[in-house]
Amino acid sequence: LTAPGQLFEMDEVEIRGTTIRTWKHAPGHFRALLDASRGYGERDFLIYEDERLSFEEHYRRASALATVLVRDYGVAKGDRVALAMRNYPEWVVSFSAILAAGAIAVPLNAWWTRQELEFGLADSGAKVLIADGERADRLAAASYDARLIVTRPGGEPPEGAALLADLIADAGPGSAPPAVELDPEDPATIFYTSGTTGRPKGALGTHRNLGQAPMTVAYSLMRGAMLAGKDPAQASGERRVSLLTVPLFHVTGCFATMITSLFSGATIVLMYKWDPGVALRLIEREKVTGLVGVPTNAWQLLSHPDIGKHDISSLGSLGYGGAPAPPKLLERITSELPGRAPSNGYGMTETTALIINNTGRSYLDKPDSIGHPVAVIDVRISDPLGNEVPVGEVGELCVRGSAVIAGYWNRPDATAETFVDGWLHTGDLARVDEEGFVYIVDRAKDMVIRGGENVYCAEVEAALFEHPAVDDAAVIGIPHDELGEEVGAVIRLKPGARVTEADLTGFLKERIATFKIPTHVWFRDADLPRNPGGKILKTHLRREILGL
Ligand code: AMP
Repeated sequence: LTAPGQLFEMDEVEIRGTTIRTWKHAPGHFRALLDASRGYGERDFLIYEDERLSFEEHYRRASALATVLVRDYGVAKGDRVALAMRNYPEWVVSFSAILAAGAIAVPLNAWWTRQELEFGLADSGAKVLIADGERADRLAAASYDARLIVTRPGGEPPEGAALLADLIADAGPGSAPPAVELDPEDPATIFYTSGTTGRPKGALGTHRNLGQAPMTVAYSLMRGAMLAGKDPAQASGERRVSLLTVPLFHVTGCFATMITSLFSGATIVLMYKWDPGVALRLIEREKVTGLVGVPTNAWQLLSHPDIGKHDISSLGSLGYGGAPAPPKLLERITSELPGRAPSNGYGMTETTALIINNTGRSYLDKPDSIGHPVAVIDVRISDPLGNEVPVGEVGELCVRGSAVIAGYWNRPDATAETFVDGWLHTGDLARVDEEGFVYIVDRAKDMVIRGGENVYCAEVEAALFEHPAVDDAAVIGIPHDELGEEVGAVIRLKPGARVTEADLTGFLKERIATFKIPTHVWFRDADLPRNPGGKILKTHLRREILGL
């Protein structure tokens, strides 16, 4: 990071008929970013348990795998290569290799069931799948076209599958990835999100989006340092070690942390899965300086009985986003971990992670705000007809700028619905105050956020409707201190049907990932409340059941 004026200059470019602002000095594509990361040499890039991977070694392995993908798997520019893995260093190496080869990386959710993974592979048309042993086993009886590469197999790798480590070892001499021409508007990633129609859609991100992300994070950090009264130049020179508490297959893990570290030379301590006790030990052992995650992570860390037993004095910042952060969390951080810099970031898959951020003094002054948009993002609050509403009034949050993705993979209708005249309609209801601070007041989209993980009500309802005894069903969010929300379902059974809660959850287990399965089920005899258009009145239902 250099001085703000120098690094944070902006350009204007025209993309798909709209003029947007971009960070001028951002890497234009992933290859530029990867090549530059070599400059960090032997410094630790990834730490996972006892494994340490330097920036140089990451470059070497990613280059070798890119070579093999092109040479032996026939992967060409624009082909899709899927990833189904927990947070292992190989996730990062594979992601880098796929992009360096000019292909599109498709990170699949590692908690998905066999059926969900099959859907992701078919929908993206993946040519190759790189999976860990557990995911490869889960797919053993599945049908898909992709060729399989496996890492960390439990036993023998499935027949026909290659081992990732062998491929890297056999790549042969040559330290650079194969040559490929890349343009900032070329597609780079497909992240699955938002199944308002029941099934997730692939958010198609470009190389420009990816290159902009670390600049946005750097800008937010710099602004945070200035708001905290620090000298930004000094803050930029500080050694940074980030604890990665969230999955790499989400944008916060991938862009706000991993890509940002590749860009800025920060070290990442990878967690296989979130566990506050393990997090405390890692913060102490690796002298972690910052934690990046969802509000639940910070909340659980503060609540852990061992927090006083570890030296966590290195931890300077706690950043969270991806779900509403209760003002109570800020209060707890300020009183229980004084001197730390908390920050609340808003973003979504369609915005390549963080775009609006509240930190420093302004966060203390306005703890219920998500802050100001970063400089390359425009915000507009719209009424249902698309007109901008006056300051202070609530409407849909719409955003525009260099972090906004190109659209949805192979879904022109959904793309046209969500991206209107260059503005992304977020489905969040918000207002902006006189000073430009943004407040999220509600969610227009039918979604529950459980510990930062999105659960689309329509998808769970569709799975419930597959059960022969279910007559009607509505999925709603149930408030929860730690997780923010839990999943609840209100069910009306067919006359005479006799089904228990356990029957229903057992049935769902086959179809949808565990985190989507309702933990509270209410059976009811009366009709579910609906508006004249037939839409279930969920606010009404929540009030009726929970008294909210
Ligand atoms: P995802 O695409 O999974 O990242 O989910 C994005 C959604 O999470 C947004 O549309 C919001 O509804 C919610 N969200 C993300 N960040 C925040 C935040 N800081 N405060 C409130 N809601 C948030």
